[in-house]
Amino acid sequence: MGMFDSLKEKLNIFKKKAAEEIEEEEKEAAKKAQAEPKPQKPVPKEVKPVKVEKPAIAPPTPTKPVTEPITKGVQKPPKPVEVKKVTKVKVDDSRSDKFTDGLFGWKLKPEKIEELLGDLEIILLESDVALPVVDAIKAAVKEDLKDKKIKFGADTAAVVDASLRLAVKRVLSTEKRINLDEYIETHEKPISIMFVGVNGTGKTTTIAKVCYRYLQKGKSVVIAAADTFRAGAIEQLEIHAERLGVKLIKHQAGSDPAAVAYDAIEHARARHRDLVLIDTAGRMQTNTNLMDEMKKIKRVVNPNLIIFIGDSLAGNDATNQANEFEKAVRIDGAILSKIDADAKGGAALSVAKAVGKPILFVGVGQEYKDLIPFSSTWLVERLFGKSASDKGSE
Ligand code: GDP
Ligand code: GDP
Repeated sequence: MGMFDSLKEKLNIFKKKAAEEIEEEEKEAAKKAQAEPKPQKPVPKEVKPVKVEKPAIAPPTPTKPVTEPITKGVQKPPKPVEVKKVTKVKVDDSRSDKFTDGLFGWKLKPEKIEELLGDLEIILLESDVALPVVDAIKAAVKEDLKDKKIKFGADTAAVVDASLRLAVKRVLSTEKRINLDEYIETHEKPISIMFVGVNGTGKTTTIAKVCYRYLQKGKSVVIAAADTFRAGAIEQLEIHAERLGVKLIKHQAGSDPAAVAYDAIEHARARHRDLVLIDTAGRMQTNTNLMDEMKKIKRVVNPNLIIFIGDSLAGNDATNQANEFEKAVRIDGAILSKIDADAKGGAALSVAKAVGKPILFVGVGQEYKDLIPFSSTWLVERLFGKSASDKGSE
């Protein structure tokens, strides 16, 4: 399955079902609206609601009417002149069980909203969305729906769709953003970026992709093979560096990773290179030895940025790993690899919110060009398709 396929499919089923249920509610609301008891007191009121339903044939007399009958108070208003004023409908807002807004629209009952949120929660949890993020999305949907006036006859699927989009966007866009392109343009060179993450997540490939991106933008790049623990890691980077035509700084396997990173930065400084990309070791994130090593590299070279690379296929585990690295060295942002193969979308929805650090890019394939900037709009469009209201917004 391709990118977010399983989540998209589930959300689609949810939207349809929710739309149908909302339509059922609407029918009920419509009945209620018709039958809604008029206030007992002879508050100035209109005649029969039925009239109002077809304003098309509403009688002429446009300018004066409404105010007149009101001042006359108690007595029954005359005529069908009644093109009634919306404001008047407010009269019975005090009624707590009210869920229609006269004939103009209606609201979902809180019980119905809870029911829908329950369904949504299951879908998100099944898709490996982290629990706090599930809660945040639910809260945003609830916030949007609870006071929403739905017009009679409105496209209910569109109502649900809009609410979900808004919620996902809201959850994703609370985090501060880093635009790496801009960062690189505006900071003193060489700029050093330390990449951290667990082995097998696509770290090496991603570093090569980042290297490619900035070579394309005319920057000069040096790569540091600071994962000295695995000889294989050095060889792998060597292949990439050769293919990309950039300098690789390496020491022999087993040597001090911080020293490699330091040498790479010195090299870049001496040769006026723009960027130093530092690969690091990545055994299990729970290994304190590894985390100490990361701290040491950070201490020795003081990189401009530390970027976590997570495998989106790892779902919740990617979020946990990001949190571990955040605790150990403080990450500035994340890149999620293998999004192209991720049907669930949990990591993409969770990492930024759960860790509080932005996702800078996502990896969408095995080639160098397969790295694209991440944005909430991008994700929302992948999940829900493009929408007119999304265009032009961030
Ligand atoms: P490392 O051990 O973390 O350095 O991982 P590698 O860079 O060696 O990547 C592990 C595997 O994941 C390789 O087969 C990569 O080609 C693959 N890979 C990395 N990024 C992506 C991606 O964005 N999409 C896909 N489909 N595969 C990826
Ligand atoms: P572990 O169980 O794989 O963590 O192995 P140890 O913690 O017993 O480490 C064995 C030796 O390898 C020690 O001298 C460590 O300093 C070194 N070492 C362990 N992990 C790394 C690593 O990720 N990178 C480097 N460069 N050395 C490491």
